[in-house]
Amino acid sequence: TLVTNLRKFVTLVDRLRDTGLHKYIDLPRIAVLGSQSAGKSSLLEQIVGLDFLPRGEGTVTRRPLEMRLFYVPKEKLSMPYGVFEEIPGQKFTDFQMVKQNIDKLTNNVAGANKGIVDKPIVLTIYSSTCPDLTIVDLPGITKIPIRGTDQTQDIEKITKEMAARYCKDPKTIILCVIPANADITTSDGLMMARQLDPQGSRTIGCITKIDIMDKGTDARRLLTGEDVGLKLGYVGIKNRSQADINEKKTVLQSLDDERKFFSTSPIYSSLPSSLLGTRSLTNKLTDVLYTHIRTCLPQIISEIQKQINEKEQRLKELGTGMPEEEKDKLKYLWKVINDFSTAFKNSINGSYDKLAT
Ligand code: GDP
Ligand code: MG
Repeated sequence: TLVTNLRKFVTLVDRLRDTGLHKYIDLPRIAVLGSQSAGKSSLLEQIVGLDFLPRGEGTVTRRPLEMRLFYVPKEKLSMPYGVFEEIPGQKFTDFQMVKQNIDKLTNNVAGANKGIVDKPIVLTIYSSTCPDLTIVDLPGITKIPIRGTDQTQDIEKITKEMAARYCKDPKTIILCVIPANADITTSDGLMMARQLDPQGSRTIGCITKIDIMDKGTDARRLLTGEDVGLKLGYVGIKNRSQADINEKKTVLQSLDDERKFFSTSPIYSSLPSSLLGTRSLTNKLTDVLYTHIRTCLPQIISEIQKQINEKEQRLKELGTGMPEEEKDKLKYLWKVINDFSTAFKNSINGSYDKLAT
């Protein structure tokens, strides 16, 4: 029932977002934060269980990608498919086409020459491989512009500001992707997460590239939160490597590899399994989002009520507007002219006090 309840809650929040409510009130969501090449896209593919995110040289994610994931049981779904908000009425069962369309929609809006744009692509995926979640993939924090492209010298500022816009909202859960093969103290993602969520109360740490750490080092202290504490904790991940991708290893095979890697690892197998693997991360995200939406809902309702009251008050102040019907419009115009001339006459006679109504 947690799963069916969560689906209801996530759909509710997505619908509220569709009505444009997020422009007035912050809504709960999960956003992925991390530097370029930290493993964000690879991780998202493993969460979804499908191979569909574009990757390549340079900043590949150049528009935020809002992924609305719907779990559908295998027997009720002949094939997983995706739908883009910007391409209404088309179901994509070929995920290579999904990938191509993400590229196309990126280029349509952000230009083919690697510019970065804030307007999100909304992609809904129905699959038996994914959890019920909505996750936003953000362009990675990029230090150095790619030569010969539209990326400017302030690419770091642009990517950081966009990430900040999403992640500073107290209703956003930050999924912070930290590659284990670099020094954690230099992780841009973690540094930003600490700035935007100083209490560490809504950040989940996700340690990728655990399989390619320097020999003799490991991520145990990091995973158990001994290095940098986060209330929602950490999960270790092994994604597909570039070689895996070159060899056309599927996401599902990679998930299998990941399971084997952690269960046979002399370093990690003794840790609680909730700290390891994509599956554990998905469970954690599901739990956290469910609890989060539930605690946020009363506040959202009272904020909506407050806004409605304010707007109704303002509407009253404005009075009635121009009528719809052509003949009523003329009447209305006459009334305005009459009122004005009465008021004008009165003012000449020295009585300013009140406009005739
Ligand atoms: P993004 O820029 O954060 O979206 O990063 P990508 O997901 O595109 O990953 C960048 C590169 O790192 C790709 O070549 C991935 O195959 C590789 N990679 C990502 N995660 C892992 C991991 O856990 N282990 C290994 N070995 N390689 C990884
Ligand atoms: Mg990416």
